[in-house]
Formats: sequence, structure tokens, C-alpha cells
Amino acid sequence: GSTLEIKNLHVSIEDKEILKGVDLTIKGGEFHAVMGPNGTGKSTLASAIMGHPKYEITEGSVLLDGEDVLEMEVDERARAGLFLAMQYPSEISGVTTSDFLRSSINARRGEGNEISLMNFIKEMDSALDYLDIDKNMAQRYLNEGFSGGEKKRNEILQLLLLKPEIAILDEIDSGLDIDALKIVSKGINRLRDENFGCLIITHYQRLLNYITPDKVHVMMQGRVVKSGGPELAKRLEAEGYEWIKEELGIED
Ligand code: ADP
Ligand code: MG
Ligand code: MG
Repeated sequence: GSTLEIKNLHVSIEDKEILKGVDLTIKGGEFHAVMGPNGTGKSTLASAIMGHPKYEITEGSVLLDGEDVLEMEVDERARAGLFLAMQYPSEISGVTTSDFLRSSINARRGEGNEISLMNFIKEMDSALDYLDIDKNMAQRYLNEGFSGGEKKRNEILQLLLLKPEIAILDEIDSGLDIDALKIVSKGINRLRDENFGCLIITHYQRLLNYITPDKVHVMMQGRVVKSGGPELAKRLEAEGYEWIKEELGIED
């Protein structure tokens, strides 16, 4: 398995500092949850790691198996085995889901090692089945006209087919009804093995009833302020975030 190390990460957007020194290490085989109130920088963390141009890293490092991720081009990050499911996946007009998936798989596998069309179709059909996704979706343009739930299922479809080393899933549970939530969780749990590490960003504890994290981290005001086991998520569900602010003397 791979290891993603985030060390003292500071990130600014338009000269405003959003992340103020984040430390997190995710190893293959581990599921980590990052929770926290809205606006505390959870999505900023995900976008900065994946190399979104708007996010300026002013200090700190991100290493994948010791390699500097921040020095890599965005497509190199994917090739190295990083995967990001965004909170708001974008629509890609003119590119079908199936074409997008196939070229993503091939980008990850590298030149000379492309997946055959037959094997691709076989793998895609089996993943579509597993996730209970209508086969027609593969021929529609990526995310165009997809409902919120379809977009999230599609992210999990990508995850199953790309088999990344480390995945960062930003609010993969938002807007899902209970059936979709179960399917999305089933997909993520299917990947659980020593060669897969996952950072699950979520505002609510609900998803963690289906995916048991090894570690739970609370982010506030651009920092990880508290870490614990699954019981920490349960307490947040019951009591909210106020007690942490009081305990740590954090002002709004
Ligand atoms: P979370 O995901 O925890 O809700 P975000 O990372 O989305 O938080 O946002 C953290 C802070 O950064 C917020 O104050 C938000 O307004 C600001 N921010 C995030 N993205 C942008 C952006 N693209 N441009 C300007 N400000 C942003
Ligand atoms: Mg967010
Ligand atoms: Mg994606």
C-alpha cells in the first residue's frame, strides 16, 4: 500500500489563508474521516492536494510514498494513484461517461498498457451492475443532466474502475437518499484492502454508519483540531461541534 503524508499544509485563496497548517497521514488499508463545520477548509484541503490552480500552497508538503505531489502535474497525480471525488462534480459536454472512464483508466495504466475494449466493457458492466446504475448512463455525457445522486454514484463507478492507491472523497454522501447512500458505501467498502487508503470528507456522521473509519479528524478554522476513533464521529452526531470549541477555547 501507499502512504499519503500531508505536513504543515498552508493554503491561500486569493491571498486569504484558508488552511493554517494541516497534518494528516493516510496509509494503504486505512480509512480516515475528516469532519467539521461548513467553511473550515475541508474542500480546500482536497482541491489543494489535487492541484486545483486557484489554491496556492504557501507552506508545507504533500508526499505520496515520499514523492512530492505538489511538484507533479495534475494528470501525474492521477497516474501516481491519487483520486479525487469532488463535492460538486463538473459536467463534461461531448464526452460520454464510458469514454471518460476508458481514457482515465488508460491514463493511469500508461502507454503500451492500455485496457482492451472488451475487458473495459466487461469491467464497466460489472461495476454498473454492482452499483445498480442504469447501463444507459455510460453512454450519456459525463454528469450532464445527472441528478445529485447519479453524480455521486458515477464518482464511485470511477473509483471502482480506476482502483487508486489513495482516494479523497469530498462529501460523497451529500444529497443522497438512504438507498443511494447504501450503494455508495457498498462501493467504497468493496475497495477496502491494504492497497487502498481513503480520506472521507463529510459534514455528517450518517455515512460513517456504513463505512467505519479507522480514524476521525475534526477540522476547524483551517486546522485539524482533534483526532480520535469512530466514537468521535458518534459524539459529533449527538452533540454537534460546540463542545470541541469550548474544550479547545476556539472563538468563532
Ligand atoms: P468546507 O469544505 O469545510 O465547507 P471550503 O474549503 O469550501 O470549506 O471553504 C473554506 C473557506 O475558503 C471558506 O471561507 C470559503 O468561502 C473559502 N473558499 C473556498 N473556495 C474558494 C474559492 N474558490 N474562492 C474564494 N474563496 C473560497
Ligand atoms: Mg466542502
Ligand atoms: Mg472525479
